[in-house]
Amino acid sequence: MGKPTGFMEFERALPTRRAAEVRVKDWFEIYEEFPQASVQQQGARCMECGVPFCHTGCPVNNHIPDWNDFVYHGRWEEAVRRLHSTNNFPEFTGRICPAPCEASCVLGINQPPVTIKQIEKTIVERGWEEGWILPEPALEKSGKKVAVIGSGPAGLAAAQQLCRAGHDVTVYEKADRIGGLLRYGIPNFKLEKHVIDRRLKQMEAEGVKFVTNAHVGVNVDVAQLRKDFDAIVLAGGSEGPRDLKVPGRELKGIHFAMEFLPQQTKRVLGDTVPAESTILATGKKVVIIGGGDTGADCLGTSLRQGAASVRQFEIMPKPPETRSERTPWPLWPLQLRIESSHEEGGTREWSLNTVHFEGDADGNVARLHAVQVGLPPKFEPIPGTETVIEADLVLLAMGFTGPIRGGMLEQLGVALDGRGNVATDEHSMTSEKGIFAAGDMRRGQSLVVWAIAEGRTTAGYVNAFLGTAKGVGA
Ligand SMILES: Cc1cc2nc3c(=O)[nH]c(=O)nc-3n(C[C@H](O)[C@H](O)[C@H](O)COP(=O)(O)OP(=O)(O)OC[C@H]3O[C@@H](n4cnc5c(N)ncnc54)[C@H](O)[C@@H]3O)c2cc1C
Ligand code: SF4
Repeated sequence: MGKPTGFMEFERALPTRRAAEVRVKDWFEIYEEFPQASVQQQGARCMECGVPFCHTGCPVNNHIPDWNDFVYHGRWEEAVRRLHSTNNFPEFTGRICPAPCEASCVLGINQPPVTIKQIEKTIVERGWEEGWILPEPALEKSGKKVAVIGSGPAGLAAAQQLCRAGHDVTVYEKADRIGGLLRYGIPNFKLEKHVIDRRLKQMEAEGVKFVTNAHVGVNVDVAQLRKDFDAIVLAGGSEGPRDLKVPGRELKGIHFAMEFLPQQTKRVLGDTVPAESTILATGKKVVIIGGGDTGADCLGTSLRQGAASVRQFEIMPKPPETRSERTPWPLWPLQLRIESSHEEGGTREWSLNTVHFEGDADGNVARLHAVQVGLPPKFEPIPGTETVIEADLVLLAMGFTGPIRGGMLEQLGVALDGRGNVATDEHSMTSEKGIFAAGDMRRGQSLVVWAIAEGRTTAGYVNAFLGTAKGVGA
């Protein structure tokens, strides 16, 4: 424990966000620099608990008290090494993880928790600046070949672990760039894309091969993959969007969030989006249906595009402002979350259900009919609360129903579980021998940190399956 009295002396501190009116004019990340001296002081707040509950909250089992202590003592290089011993990509989680570790930090019982996520980000960025994060190619090759399908955090973590264990790894990605939802879901203002590219360079130098525009089951033959590889890891995410099947859904101007968000990232990356498929919020009255993170990302993106107005609707009731009694420490707290996008503009409305859409003479959405509803699970409409809202762009951000069925999954013949995700045994193997699954494709819509955790664990099982002597990550 660096400073036994640290948690009594220092208040929790975080970097400030750039002023909302400034940051909505650009696509850069929203945080100001946070001096390393301040981070060291924050590290001193860690009590190095005998039973560190932060571990139980962290899906990758980060050794949090260890690196808090290293940081406090200025032992940055050791902190970088310890951080990478459990997490391949702390620069992603240090930016966009909702930090379940902080929700379960013991200090959180009666004080604001240790600022674990910011410490993580500072350590890894120091590592990159100092040149301490280098390729770690395998010393020996196994002669075995593994195909990873999907290049989100699960696929990338699995690929890096397996490559370091000596296997020849090829990642197939149907999109034109590598990264999965890190690239095309999470907007630039939360995660600038050069952060992904920097890590991909390391992986390429270690020997991972990336193939883009390679849609397995469409332009990459599944039977050929089975012949060419000794094992396959399915990490194709949970891409099936939840639809709103109400009258008027077919009108022009109603889109899924994941039709809208990737286009903006492409523009930021210098691509031109074809006019016929362009979806832009500029000058529009935008309604976002879905009150979660994806909805908040649509909000921040719409504001940056210059929407005339943005309203975000949620069918669930407004959560309490502070931790609900139903979710005491160390559980993940049910409480109102104010994302950075919410500070930037727009309005949020709860307990509102969309009943139907109304269009203009040209078939464009013009209005949305909604009604206030009661509590779940019935969501009964409250008579007299019907309302009509003007909208010329509606973004559906109501979550995902699971992986795309048919195509690759059907051709491989892997069994699905009751929720429509890819079913696996306790070693992440699907119903087909030698075919494994990880991340959202296996567990359903989740978090980046869970995808990394699953990629690592699955790599361990694949490695064992391939029968090499060396163990990886699991
Ligand atoms: C808009 C949005 C914002 C989010 N924000 C956050 C956040 O801030 N923090 C957080 O922790 N989580 C966030 N999430 C969730 C997080 O991004 C996912 O849980 C995580 O990316 C899942 O990782 P994955 O590797 O399993 O799948 P994905 O990241 O979905 O990657 C799957 C990849 O597989 C590819 N693929 C699919 N099928 C095939 C095929 N047949 N052939 C070839 N390639 C294929 C896809 O193109 C995709 O690139 C967000 C999700 C969304 C939608
Ligand atoms: S629970 Fe909090 S105070 Fe305790 S070791 Fe973990 S980070 Fe430090």
